[in-house]
Amino acid sequence: MDPTSRVLVLYTGGTIGMRRNARGVYEPVRGWFAEQVEKQPQLHDPTQPLFTTRPSSSGRRIHYDISAYEQPLDSANLDLSHWARFATDIERAYDDYDAFVVVHGTDTMAYTASALAFMLEGLAKPVILTGAQIPIEQLRNDALDNLLGALGIAGHYAIPEVGLYFHHKLLRGCRATKVDAIGLDAFDSPNLPPLVEVGVDVDVDWDHVLPTPTTPLKVHKTLDPHVAALRLYPGMTRRILENFLAPPLAGLVLETFGAGNAPDRSDDLIGVLREASERGVVILNVSQCLRGRVRPSYAAGQALVDAGVVPGADMTPEAALSKLAFLLGTGLPVDEVRRLAGRSLRGELTEDEPG
Ligand code: ASP
Repeated sequence: MDPTSRVLVLYTGGTIGMRRNARGVYEPVRGWFAEQVEKQPQLHDPTQPLFTTRPSSSGRRIHYDISAYEQPLDSANLDLSHWARFATDIERAYDDYDAFVVVHGTDTMAYTASALAFMLEGLAKPVILTGAQIPIEQLRNDALDNLLGALGIAGHYAIPEVGLYFHHKLLRGCRATKVDAIGLDAFDSPNLPPLVEVGVDVDVDWDHVLPTPTTPLKVHKTLDPHVAALRLYPGMTRRILENFLAPPLAGLVLETFGAGNAPDRSDDLIGVLREASERGVVILNVSQCLRGRVRPSYAAGQALVDAGVVPGADMTPEAALSKLAFLLGTGLPVDEVRRLAGRSLRGELTEDEPG
């Protein structure tokens, strides 16, 4: 075993590297993150080339390069073009590193993690997103733990997936969702156990880790931006839904009630969805509930299937949205996009009904 792993850290922004400005609010500042990392003895052994960790309990050091984007961003400002840039940068450096850590704001981290999972087809190395709720410059922070944990897993375990590491857990990226805006245990993957849990020991759940792909890395950079998500609510009018589904919309994630239900006592909403499906809009049904799945238990759910809406099983809304942008970006025929939308491509949904 080579005693040093090489990891590329892409620093995109987020609270982890922010500094309080004169008005007392956090903002990203160029160059600040790497400066802070260098000051942390756990993250950088001053007797070694910049940046190298001390050896782990298994005797392995991690040497990492930090590649910082010119303008670090609050992740609320990221869009599909940023996802494409991250994927491109990973592709360019793919052969030079054993693994990748993407340092990112927490607000849209689950979206980026999902998007990268779809964009990086044939991924055979770990790509781990992490960030923090408290900046690394603060005395009490979660940045150090999260960064050290993400680097440690990236440098020690050949997990061929896009993961999200936060608060002692590695989650599958396309299963993760932000569940807490204040607490440090900010992410969960409600329908899949963590891939790794870090306590006294590091427990990797290899049964849930995806197999290493046999095909080479293929990076899909074209995403269709004409996708949207709509949370159904009691009393939604036909007019509002019609406006939402109007061109140029090509794909819609419909967040429905419970196990995938929508009002079916009149043709108001169902009729609009049917008409949009017939026009070629791909509509993907996911539940508003954190746990469980869309299943055809009720007539109110079956009506959606009859209207051409694709059941999204137990996908998160984040995974569903980025999956539609990816699938529609491939240029495949709409029927094929619909078929693939309901299938597991990167472990983002459970295909078989449990039990
Ligand atoms: N607003 C920040 C961001 O998403 C929040 C964070 O990083 O925790 O960039």
